[in-house]
Amino acid sequence: MKDLLDEIIEKNRYLINKGKVASYIPALGRANPDQIGVCIADMEGNIFAAGDYKQKFTIQSISKTISLMLAIMDNGAEEVFSKVGMEPTGDAFNSIIKLETILPSKPLNPMINAGAIAVASLIKGEDPESKFDRLLALFRKICHNEDLQVNEEVYLSEKSTGNRNRALAYFMKDVGVIHGEVEGILDIYFKQCSIEVDCIDIAKIGLFLANNGVVLETGERVVEEQVAKTIKTFMVTCGMYNASGEFAINVGIPAKSGVGGGIMAAVPRRMGIGVFSPALDEKGNSIAGYGVLKDLSKELDLSFF
Ligand code: GLN
Repeated sequence: MKDLLDEIIEKNRYLINKGKVASYIPALGRANPDQIGVCIADMEGNIFAAGDYKQKFTIQSISKTISLMLAIMDNGAEEVFSKVGMEPTGDAFNSIIKLETILPSKPLNPMINAGAIAVASLIKGEDPESKFDRLLALFRKICHNEDLQVNEEVYLSEKSTGNRNRALAYFMKDVGVIHGEVEGILDIYFKQCSIEVDCIDIAKIGLFLANNGVVLETGERVVEEQVAKTIKTFMVTCGMYNASGEFAINVGIPAKSGVGGGIMAAVPRRMGIGVFSPALDEKGNSIAGYGVLKDLSKELDLSFF
């Protein structure tokens, strides 16, 4: 397996030059574009990894899967989906347009920024800090890694420049999708995006979902099976932004990407996969990461379609 992973990384290395590191969050622009890493965590407890799999990066939009789990645990699915829809958008992840043109006004799904900000507003706790602490505790449990932390530089960089997200949040407050203090809600969202992980951590999130909500190492059931299935379904329909349809055809695995360069994938009942390579395609997905998953899917026959 290790040889296969090395081979697939080398085969896809040329793609790096065709992509660009995200720079709209200034601190992300400093990533080294030449890196590629991959990790597979399987249901037998094996970890296979290759390339720059130890490199730390911020989780970004991959965090939307875990915040959605916590919001559903806190409020029930019915309440959450009264505020956030279940449909793909066909638009960019940070688009604002459909908030106004589709009525009643609510974000179309929890994997776009507007939806994830609405989800963050539903997490329970005394104040934004304690809400985020509960979320971080859930990340640590699912990744089986107590050391997970926020990268302060990325968090502050996004907080000081994230005006598009601020606009989405204020619009949603105006139309009654979110309530309460907007900056506190955004703070939870910016911090969750800035949690620092490596390929092993995100492979473990994939494994947790592949295992339908049970942490493999401890046997602890953290979320209902139905919640894990809901998250995987969103990954198929919306996980790769407006490239989700094409990704389903080419790769056929539930996956969620982030602009930090990570892609987390869950192969039901088989394995979790984490890939990382910070150069992105024009839709904001890791360009070499996509290639690696495409080859892995073919070589290991992972597509479930
Ligand atoms: N923090 C990023 C943002 O809000 C997350 C986006 C992403 O990974 N697609 O813009």
